[in-house]
Amino acid sequence: MVICPICNGIEEIEDRCPDCSNQMVDQGKIVDYLDDYSPYLEVMMTKMVDGDPDSATVQQCIHVIQCVECGKIMTKEIQEASY
Ligand SMILES: [Zn+2]
Ligand SMILES: [Zn+2]
Repeated sequence: MVICPICNGIEEIEDRCPDCSNQMVDQGKIVDYLDDYSPYLEVMMTKMVDGDPDSATVQQCIHVIQCVECGKIMTKEIQEASY
């Protein structure tokens, strides 16, 4: 079964904030944010849609990650894998 290791608690986000180098924490899948209108996220989603046409076929789980210090929000593509 191909699953996202972040969604399933197998791995944790280990990214550092590009602005302040503090820890980024997982805020959940980006699809969970689509109900809440956010111009910032909408811009990011539009970029993704306009991007690589092959990306839709790649099994990736898009997560929202946020800096614990400055609150910066980014997206991270998590590669789904077999476990
Ligand atoms: Zn996931
Ligand atoms: Zn930060």
